[in-house]
Amino acid sequence: MPTFEYAPAPESRAVVTIEKSYGLFVDGAFTRPKATFPTINPADETVLAEVSQASAKDVDKAVAAARRAFDGVWGRMSGAERGKYLFRIARILQERAREFAVLESLDNGKPIKETRDFDVPTAAAHFFYHAGWADKLEYAGLSTPGEAPARPHGVVGQIIPWNFPLLMLAWKVAPALATGNTVVLKPAETTPLSALLFAEVCQQADLPAGVVNIVTGDGRTGQALVEHPDVDKIAFTGSTDVGKTIARSIAGTSKKATLELGGKAANIIFDDAPIDQAVEGIVGGIFFNQGQVCCAGSRLLVQENVHDQVVARLKRRLQTLRVGDPLDKNSDLGAINSREQLDRITTLVDAGVAEGAERWSPACTLPAKGFWFPPTLLTGVSQTHRVATEEIFGPVLTVLTFRTPQEAVAKANNTAYGLSAGVWTEKGSRILWMADHLKAGVVWANTFNRFDPSSPFGGYKESGYGREGGRHGLEAYLTTAPATLTGAAR
Ligand code: NAD
Repeated sequence: MPTFEYAPAPESRAVVTIEKSYGLFVDGAFTRPKATFPTINPADETVLAEVSQASAKDVDKAVAAARRAFDGVWGRMSGAERGKYLFRIARILQERAREFAVLESLDNGKPIKETRDFDVPTAAAHFFYHAGWADKLEYAGLSTPGEAPARPHGVVGQIIPWNFPLLMLAWKVAPALATGNTVVLKPAETTPLSALLFAEVCQQADLPAGVVNIVTGDGRTGQALVEHPDVDKIAFTGSTDVGKTIARSIAGTSKKATLELGGKAANIIFDDAPIDQAVEGIVGGIFFNQGQVCCAGSRLLVQENVHDQVVARLKRRLQTLRVGDPLDKNSDLGAINSREQLDRITTLVDAGVAEGAERWSPACTLPAKGFWFPPTLLTGVSQTHRVATEEIFGPVLTVLTFRTPQEAVAKANNTAYGLSAGVWTEKGSRILWMADHLKAGVVWANTFNRFDPSSPFGGYKESGYGREGGRHGLEAYLTTAPATLTGAAR
């Protein structure tokens, strides 16, 4: 049986310059760093840089800069002009793709082949896509001059998680700017570096000062942004618990919110599915980004008569996955993002075993330093087990069985979440029936984890509300409420 060996990649970080310490990006310039905290390379626990912890006062300055830009140059700019800035940002992201890919892998722990082939190009694609929208909002009926014109909210506070730092930024910033809003964005405390490199991109693109502001810090900084009276809308991606806190704290105010929260997706495999293709999809669905994906296919629902066959093939496939240095382009899985996340995964898997699940991982040698977890299967899981109901957010696949499509739907929907699901079957009619009955914002058929900027993404139930991507995503950044502002839409 092959074993996984950790060997640090030789080439690498030379393509990106990491400063010793970083200030905030406010009003088009970096502030002097003060009150800093370290951001760590999860693969070896070394400190990458010191990053500023933004106080409520710092957030206030960033919001004031965003308001000036909204009331000034950005608010008066035509959609076509805004679009040019978005195109410029997209091009610079492409030009600096290697820097972003390496930096993201260092700060997050995810394998370079994912940052290189997915995170960075998809982030650029989001800017290209939304650049194209900026001057077409009226024609698409998103903004109708003369009739309660749709217009931007104003200053938008955006708070993002650590699992796709640059991509989540792109999902938030691109539609906000295309629709004429200005932004104060707070990256997650464990992955602030790509957002700070993005601030450089804004400078390079000559984006007017104050249109994008980046405030780094922990939950206190996020809370200050949420509670700031001059923020018009909050766009949040993160855990359901924090999402609920945010919803409570803006209740009764005029602030709008979109919340993209957790998930516990079912990946459902019927006995007529092309098994090899399905096994690839199941592996990609859960081990992509070490399973730290809100829509990860973390619950495998397999039809009872093919359970043994599917599990055997999964075990064979898992033995070929390489866990290793995130900067090594042959690594399939990198490091877990933080000690806290690693502890959470370990605790939940231990709980699963204590409740009767059988744990299996391929033989695996992992380094003593850094945050590592092997690809893991939990079989014999029942619906009441914690591992079947709680979001593990790690490289752990729980396996449950079903007999009929009705039972598959009942089990898939037996969760507080409703973000995504996958169905594997040859029968087209069954796909349509399942998609109709699954309570999930996204249902993939005979594939998994497909994303496109033109496709709306978002959840049901405790997975949040609002959509990102496509026309629906733009609507989330526009308001049609009549206001003192009348006349042509921006
Ligand atoms: P988290 O909720 O702990 O943190 C997310 C962000 O919120 C961070 O920037 C954090 O600093 C900030 N924050 C923390 N407390 C806050 C508060 N009281 N007020 C305002 N901001 C606060 O989530 P995480 O651990 O960074 O990310 C993992 C979670 O994100 C998972 O549950 C995952 O499913 C979810 N997620 C969802 C989507 C989606 O599109 N639905 C995408 C990616 C991740």
